[in-house]
Amino acid sequence: MRRIGDALNKLANNVEFNQKYEYIKNEVLNDEQIRLFLNENSSRVSKEKVEKSLMKLYEFSSQSKNCDKCPSLGGCVNMMQGYHPKLVINGNGIDLSYEICPRKAVDDEKRKHEKLIQSLYVPKDILSASLDDFYHTDISGNRIEAIEKATSFVEEYIPGKQQKGMYLHGSFGVGKTYLLGAIANELAKNQISSLIVYVPDFIREIKSSISDNTLNDKIEMTKKAPVLMLDDIGAEAMSSWARDEVLGPILQFRMLENLPTFFTSNFDFDGLQNHLTFSQRGEKEEVKAARIMERINYLAEPLQLTGENRRR
Ligand code: ADP
Ligand code: MG
Repeated sequence: MRRIGDALNKLANNVEFNQKYEYIKNEVLNDEQIRLFLNENSSRVSKEKVEKSLMKLYEFSSQSKNCDKCPSLGGCVNMMQGYHPKLVINGNGIDLSYEICPRKAVDDEKRKHEKLIQSLYVPKDILSASLDDFYHTDISGNRIEAIEKATSFVEEYIPGKQQKGMYLHGSFGVGKTYLLGAIANELAKNQISSLIVYVPDFIREIKSSISDNTLNDKIEMTKKAPVLMLDDIGAEAMSSWARDEVLGPILQFRMLENLPTFFTSNFDFDGLQNHLTFSQRGEKEEVKAARIMERINYLAEPLQLTGENRRR
């Protein structure tokens, strides 16, 4: 009895298999792209080749092409996330070659772009700023001039050439930091990397740690970044030591190496000079402050940014 049962089972399975096979074949041969491919290559693919390649063709028909079955890159339904199949002919029949899908191509490009903009202590939203947005939100006062200067900086940038950055000053929330982010993004489009440093946190870290390696790395990065943006200088409580031993040498290095440097501040030049003059111990250190200001003046051209406060 068992033997007969086994045989019947096998037969049943076989029928099921055949049905499945026919179903798959039908589905595969009705696939629009497969039909097109077989038509275009009718002289090179015989019926046997099609039969032999049925599983490949089935794989092709079940995978997403050009992201048509995927909600997002993370939700990619394909066997290899971010890759979609293309039909190719090889010696034994039809084969698949997997290529980067459109969503992954965009994502790869975005990551490459993001790698070009490094930042220390800067909120991430700034990194998505764009000059177009800046232009479209408000063109009052000298904001157009700011955009034009930013644009010509990006257009004229050549590594190693002495080129002045901008010293953007103005009141809280007018978009100074946002403009830095937009410039960094424009530079990244041209494969130029920049580093945006939020000065108050940078100085705070310098003050609090007994110089460890990560801090030294950060200082080195700040010295050598192809384009450096020092955000919110003057908003920190800068000790004499940070001013003379950290900020001073960074600026000096950048002057000598012709490395463009941008600044934003709530203070204009005079205000910043005054801020840097009084040490935390209350001493007046005019000469030392003046030396820093000379370097800033050499590196960047001041421009007051006006406009409404965009902070909510
Ligand atoms: P500031 O550095 O002058 O104090 P921010 O650049 O931080 O000002 O801008 C304040 C807020 O407004 C931020 O959240 C920023 O993302 C937003 N913002 C500024 N300018 C624009 C703009 N042109 N378009 C869209 N959002 C902007
Ligand atoms: Mg700011």
